[in-house]
Amino acid sequence: DIREGKPPHGEGARMREIDLHVHTTASDGTCTPAEVVALAQKIGLKAIAITDHDTESGYFEAAEAGEKLGIEVVPGIEISTKYGVAVHILGYFIDPQSPELRPVLDWVINDRNDRNRKMAELMAADGLPFDYDEMRARFGESIGRPHFARMLYELGLAESVNDAFQRYVEKGQKYYLPRTIIPIEMSVETICRSGGIAVLAHPFQYKKSDAELRELIEHCMAHGLRGMECRYSGYDAQQTAYLEGLAEEYGLLKTGGSDFHGANKPAISLGTGKGELNVPYAWLERLKAAAHK
Ligand code: AMP
Ligand code: ZN
Ligand code: FE
Ligand code: FE
Repeated sequence: DIREGKPPHGEGARMREIDLHVHTTASDGTCTPAEVVALAQKIGLKAIAITDHDTESGYFEAAEAGEKLGIEVVPGIEISTKYGVAVHILGYFIDPQSPELRPVLDWVINDRNDRNRKMAELMAADGLPFDYDEMRARFGESIGRPHFARMLYELGLAESVNDAFQRYVEKGQKYYLPRTIIPIEMSVETICRSGGIAVLAHPFQYKKSDAELRELIEHCMAHGLRGMECRYSGYDAQQTAYLEGLAEEYGLLKTGGSDFHGANKPAISLGTGKGELNVPYAWLERLKAAAHK
């Protein structure tokens, strides 16, 4: 496919076609699902996938906005797992009503809430204005450390959300508490059993060697992994080519997205990432065909 081979900034390049990795206020993004879809229309995207952490609840509002604005909205999710290090698995075209998925997500959200409540109590004990029931009312279902970081930043205790995260809630810091992470096998299998396509997210985030990354891919494939995120915010042409080569070698579907979080990650723009991102619509067509959509 010649179109896919064009450099993102080359003349005639089909830029900014789709973005398959987007967070909303349903998890730790700062744009509502409807706002993200409106933004997608404004910048000329054809399609976006909503991939909130551990919840699909943002999809319905986004899909409704997509109908009105003529933007294709793909249902998705991003599940945190562990394989030595924290690994994220994306799931596309999951049936949100799936009886396989519901109990797993409910368990994850419950566990998050238990951990979060204790974190809020630690902060309140230091005299900080944290009340977990208020956080639930403000932030919704899938609350995580980024929400605490946002509030600490808003209280003037850090220079940015990222700075607040590193100062207060990163592992080893004062208010960090762990949560239970579901096994990677369960994450991939649950996505498959729910009719979804499981995709390995942002592979360079795990700081693995080529041999280690291959081992991770092969392990996940044994449990049903079907794709890999090959284009991602900040990944250069060489990194992208390496990942696309790996995907082709393993027969994995290629996906790409920005990991847009709105004001929580201000350096990342929808569709264009850090400026270099360019995900072709043809990749979504193949993903849909694989999911029988
Ligand atoms: P949690 O799942 O609540 O323990 O929070 C972990 C999530 O925080 C990860 O999935 C990341 O998306 C996010 N995260 C990790 N590091 C940072 C950071 N420095 N700033 C903002 N968000 C972060
Ligand atoms: Zn996030
Ligand atoms: Fe992620
Ligand atoms: Fe993400």
